[in-house]
Amino acid sequence: MNFELPQLLLICFTYLLCLFGAAYLTERGLLPPKLVRHPLLHALSLGVYASAWTFYGAFGVAAESGLLYLGSYIGAAAAFMLAPVILIPILRITRTYQLSSLADLFAFRFRSGGVGTLTALALLVACLPLLSIQIQAVSDSIYLLNQQVDRAQIAAGFCTIIALFAILFGARRASLRNSHSGLVVAVAIESIIKLLALVTVALFAYFGFFEGHEGLQSWLDANPLALQQMQKPTTPGGWQVLILAFFTSAVVMPHMFHLAFTENVSYESLYKATWVMPLFLLLMALCVPPILWAAHASGGMTTNSEFVVLNLGHTLNQPWLTLVALIGGLSAASGLIIVAVVALASMLQNHLVLPLVRRPEQTRFYTWLLWLRRFLIILLIFACYLFFITFGESFSLQQLGSLGFAAFLQFLPGLLATLYWPGASRRGFLLGLTGGFGIWLFAITLPLHREILQIDIPISSDQHWYLFVLLSVLLNLVLMVIGSLLFPGSSSERQSAEACVLNSLQRPLGLALPAAGQASDLVAQLEPRIGVDSANREVNRARVELNLPLGNLRPIDMLRLRNQLEHNLSGLLGPVEAAAILQPRSAAPSAGFRAREVHLLEQQLEHYDARLSGLAAELDQLRRYHRVTLQRLPIGACTLNEERRIQFWNSELARYTGIDDESCIGLRLISLPPPWDRLLDEFASGDAHHEPAVQVDINGFPRWFSLHKASLGHASAEGMVLLVEDETEYQMISRNLAHQERLASIGRFAAGVAHEIGNPVTGIACLAQNLKLETDTPEVLETGEQIVEQTERISRIVQSLVRFAHTGRQQNSMLRERVSLHECIADAIRLVQLDSRVRQQRFTNSVATDLYSYADPQQMLQVFINLLNNASDASPDQGEIRIDASSEGNRILLSITDEGSGIAPEHIEHLFEPFFTTKEPGKGTGLGLPLVYNIITEHYGSIELFSPADKKQNNGTQVVITLPRYNGSSPD
Ligand code: ADP
Ligand code: MG
Repeated sequence: MNFELPQLLLICFTYLLCLFGAAYLTERGLLPPKLVRHPLLHALSLGVYASAWTFYGAFGVAAESGLLYLGSYIGAAAAFMLAPVILIPILRITRTYQLSSLADLFAFRFRSGGVGTLTALALLVACLPLLSIQIQAVSDSIYLLNQQVDRAQIAAGFCTIIALFAILFGARRASLRNSHSGLVVAVAIESIIKLLALVTVALFAYFGFFEGHEGLQSWLDANPLALQQMQKPTTPGGWQVLILAFFTSAVVMPHMFHLAFTENVSYESLYKATWVMPLFLLLMALCVPPILWAAHASGGMTTNSEFVVLNLGHTLNQPWLTLVALIGGLSAASGLIIVAVVALASMLQNHLVLPLVRRPEQTRFYTWLLWLRRFLIILLIFACYLFFITFGESFSLQQLGSLGFAAFLQFLPGLLATLYWPGASRRGFLLGLTGGFGIWLFAITLPLHREILQIDIPISSDQHWYLFVLLSVLLNLVLMVIGSLLFPGSSSERQSAEACVLNSLQRPLGLALPAAGQASDLVAQLEPRIGVDSANREVNRARVELNLPLGNLRPIDMLRLRNQLEHNLSGLLGPVEAAAILQPRSAAPSAGFRAREVHLLEQQLEHYDARLSGLAAELDQLRRYHRVTLQRLPIGACTLNEERRIQFWNSELARYTGIDDESCIGLRLISLPPPWDRLLDEFASGDAHHEPAVQVDINGFPRWFSLHKASLGHASAEGMVLLVEDETEYQMISRNLAHQERLASIGRFAAGVAHEIGNPVTGIACLAQNLKLETDTPEVLETGEQIVEQTERISRIVQSLVRFAHTGRQQNSMLRERVSLHECIADAIRLVQLDSRVRQQRFTNSVATDLYSYADPQQMLQVFINLLNNASDASPDQGEIRIDASSEGNRILLSITDEGSGIAPEHIEHLFEPFFTTKEPGKGTGLGLPLVYNIITEHYGSIELFSPADKKQNNGTQVVITLPRYNGSSPD
């Protein structure tokens, strides 16, 4: 078979140039964004899985071990079909925490940079054979077509182009995630090309060579050996191990991880991949037998059965078919190698270089990072080239491939633990991985051992490879389980573990609340590592993303800002470095559950609802139920964490204080507005667990609160819950009752006095009347009459006193009878004038004597006494107090007008509030008007105060009362 070298090179270059073009157009935004971001395109890019090993190597396996070749297709297809339980959860974690590689994932999960480094190194070792296969495939295939070429030269040329492509399109931006759409598009195109190439060759073999089904059937009938060869029984156990190895590889291989998670823009693409990829692999697998048989039939089977697909064109005398196959192989090899080195470079950057190397002064951080990655890409490709030169000649594609795939299997236990076993610990993982990998290394170097040790080991790694693989994975698993049980993880590791398992959610990781501060504090912290410009840029970006203001930030906002920053930096530097840079300088050891920011967690849960399922959903329901219960508790409740910062603040408390939960969560009690700061803080730090009826002034009004508290843990440093009970109403009522009781006792006292005075006064009146009979002296008679008059006055006063005395007792009974307002007011005037304070005001009672109301006479008396007392208190000596009444329909309109000081406008609205008084202590109680109000409303009346009553003089007060009128029968 001979093709001209320039012709071959031209074809290869043209193909690669087209690839560059597609990537370039994408990066430039010249392709429609709808196409570039289409989930299907992304799903297709996962076809990178079908590398040169699948494209060429599968024929080798099929020729040698028959149907075993299906293992690689079945394993990978299974991984994609299980996307919802494997790929989707990984995507969720990598997205949430901005992880960009398997090493990032493990480092994050086990909270250890060492785990990341070990994973990165192990992946590198496992990848080298696989990458070298690709180079080998390309150089071998070209060599096959033109025996004059130097394979090493071809390999070098290929590596250079690949390096160029990887640097141009795989290291464009400093950020690791979702930033290389050109690469994704190019890889997706390659997937299609290699599929088309293989299908073309297969179709030609089937229709062109066998001339359809009958031809093939008759050939198979004539050559039963071919079919037998295809169906020959496989080594027991080998089959399953193979499938498991490919299953794992499809997820953990750096290029697969990179495309499936790091460059992924939507969950949709992974859901699409559940059918796109199995279909893709099925088509590829279907192509293998016809091509193989056609090669058999045409006598194109060489010892190098891996390249039958290339040979076929030659044996069938169809050069174009060879070229199609060549392009297919080229696309399979280049796609994998490009993505794999890009992924490995970022992994090595995060886990090997960044922890060791500091950014040199005077360099810009992002640029430095980019160049670092480009340098790593070149280094990696060079390493692959060296590997190929050293070992490539001595192994076949197939051997190298199975070696690599078996190595990837070592990551399966760690991956499963990440997704499903929060109990796995860092030491367990490290033990397992080292053990498993150790066995693998031993197995691949077995021939070497034999030579060096000169002993005859009865098993060979060629025939019994699956035993080694099985052994290594089992050992890995067992070591991990034992290690994890013996050395359980720290609490921070535990939190990451829980964040990774299925159905968990993003949450802040065990950071204690920082002090309040400013965004610039974080800039200062970042600056030494990433330079002042980049630090400013990152902090500002995080601040804008969170919508936080410039200037001072509350502790809770500082925490959020730091979390966001760590999140963003993770995408740049990997999780380990990001966490290390942001570690507070005076790092307090994380306090596990207690330090968790319950509030942030709850906030996030609020948006997480729909994504929960099963037990988690039930638990979330329960959580909501309890939360609502606390939130709606008809008593104020708040909880404090161990630093006495507010964690929870319910709605009743918000109502009492006028402070809503959003604005106070995360604050210390002492930072609340007065009077709550002192009230709550003193109580929280005091010894008493209960504090009954503490009086506080709120907006100038007295309120009473009972406080209770309980500790939320055992030690005193734990958080606590505070209950705040509003007792104002109760206090008001009990104070009112005390006052009523005092009035009642005054009443009883007055009744006693009236009774005692009554007898002597009657005696005096009798004696004075007797004077008429004893003397005719006019002066004496006149004096006698005056005495009688005065005693009558005394009797009336006494009667009024007696009537008032009844008031207190009949408070609650709804006594209603005909009441003469004129008499009632006259009584009230008399009693008011009795007051010790000399009342010199003139009371004018102009109420008509035939005006009756339907009321309780004692209560009415009390109303008028209160109102007249107020009027008299406010009036100057000699001032006039007029009482007028008129009737309107079945209501009576009664007014009491004085010429007193009037009421200040700002007081008017408070007059009916109990205890509101402007009088000095001992003089006023502030209960007069409230009592009046109560009585009047009980009588279905109304009361209003107008001040000033005399607009011209700007003084005086008028009280206007309406009352039901008595019209001969009861209104009820
Ligand atoms: P007290 O008389 O014990 O102060 P009240 O409830 O009877 O309590 O009255 C409340 C307040 O209303 C008084 O302190 C006074 O300032 C004001 N007030 C009531 N009536 C009058 C009035 N006729 N003229 C001026 N101020 C009045
Ligand atoms: Mg009063």
